[in-house]
Parts: sequence; structure tokens; C-alpha cells
Amino acid sequence: MCRHVAYLGPSVPLSAVLLDPPHALAHQAWAPRDMRGGGTINADGFGVGWYPGAGPPIRYRSAMPIWSDAALPALAAGTGAAAILAAVRSATVGMPVVETAAAPFADGRWLFSHNGVVRGFPGTLARLAAELPVEDLLTLDAPTDSAALFALLRHQLRAGKPAAEAVASLVRATREAAPGSRLNLLLTDGEQIVATTAGHALSVRAGDGAVLVASEPLDDDPSWRAVPDNHLLIATRTDVTMGET
Ligand code: GLN
Repeated sequence: MCRHVAYLGPSVPLSAVLLDPPHALAHQAWAPRDMRGGGTINADGFGVGWYPGAGPPIRYRSAMPIWSDAALPALAAGTGAAAILAAVRSATVGMPVVETAAAPFADGRWLFSHNGVVRGFPGTLARLAAELPVEDLLTLDAPTDSAALFALLRHQLRAGKPAAEAVASLVRATREAAPGSRLNLLLTDGEQIVATTAGHALSVRAGDGAVLVASEPLDDDPSWRAVPDNHLLIATRTDVTMGET
């Protein structure tokens, strides 16, 4: 299933997470090492979002496999950012392969990705979605479980709920409504990263004023730590905290 990565730290080229390391996101797209719950490669699109300073993030998304985008290497080498969130997608069976279904999903300063599946979608999410204003449902990026999860999360964030609380309560509510769901969520506003493990792999590497959170380590640096399952991770450039969800 999908692979995702988020970075906070000194400005680096986008290629530092997408393409350059030996197990960069593009490598994880066609040779993932720790796929769980089905799927073999992540060929159903990709996306990258980055913060160009004070303004809202910029996104580049595509329904094509990341390795087939001829414009990406130069774009990624020539664009620097101090905060990045990127994902490659392996669409859940029955969900459309379209650009707008590729993470990151965005709202204001927020960027979001979901690695996993909501069991019984859409029926199982109907009760949770009933709390949303109709406008939120009419502005879904795509008819997928991940876009619906983002609509639920965005509603809480817009209401001012702290990010970690909003993410944790979304995982709890979704698990209750759709048991057996896999819910590795990844959220950033460019200042902090909030991530969960629920059914899929995740690792973190922190130090020297930078933090990387990724489905799989990008390289063999010994400072990568695996995040145990059913955990919530909160990271800034200087601190990482983890606890059970
Ligand atoms: N279920 C989501 C989708 O189809 C995410 C898929 C994944 O993690 N592979 O878009």
C-alpha cells in the first residue's frame, strides 16, 4: 500500500526525499521492502507538497507512477524547501486512479496523507461523515477513503482542535466505525508532523535540527527508529514524542 514521507529541517532540495537517497520515495514506489496488507508496487500516482516560506504549501500531484514523470528530476533538484510531505500511491481495489486521489491532500497550511484502507468504505464512514457540512462533502478531492478521512480531519482542524488530538480521535472513531481499518496518517503544517501507525510500517530519524518520518528508512543510517504499531508520533525540528494511540 502507499508509502509516504515528511521532512522538517534546514532547506533541502525535494530530491533529498524523492529521488536521491538509496531508498528514496521513488525507490520505495517500485521496490518497497515492507508492504503489508496487499499490494506490491506503488504505481497509481504520487504527490509532493512543500512550503515556499511563509505562504501556503505548493503541491505537485500526478496519476502517473513517480518514476515515469520526466519533469520531476529537474523540478525536485531545483526546488528547495524546509518542510516537505510526499506520497506514492497504490490504489485500493475499486478506488479511482486519478491525480486528485493522490496525497498530499491540502487545506490552508495543512498537508495530509493516508497509508491504508477504511474497511467497508463508504458505508462504514457514513455516520462520521453525517457530522460534516454538505459543503465539505461537495469539496472532496476524490471519492476515496483517504479523501474522506481528510475531510473529517480538516473539519476538526478548522474548528481549532489541536492537530495531535484531531488525528488521534480520527483514528479512534474510524476504528470503531470500520474495524480492521489500516490507518497510517501523516499530517504537517510545516512546523510539526503528526503521524500514526495502525497496520503499516513507519520509521523516524531525528537529529541536527531535522526530522524525517517515512514509511521505510530512506537509507541505512543507524539512527532510523521503527515506530511500533498503534502509536501516535509528534515531531518538530528538535523534538520527537511517541505514545500509544
Ligand atoms: N486507500 C487509499 C487509496 O486507495 C490509500 C491506499 C494505500 O495506502 N495504498 O487511495
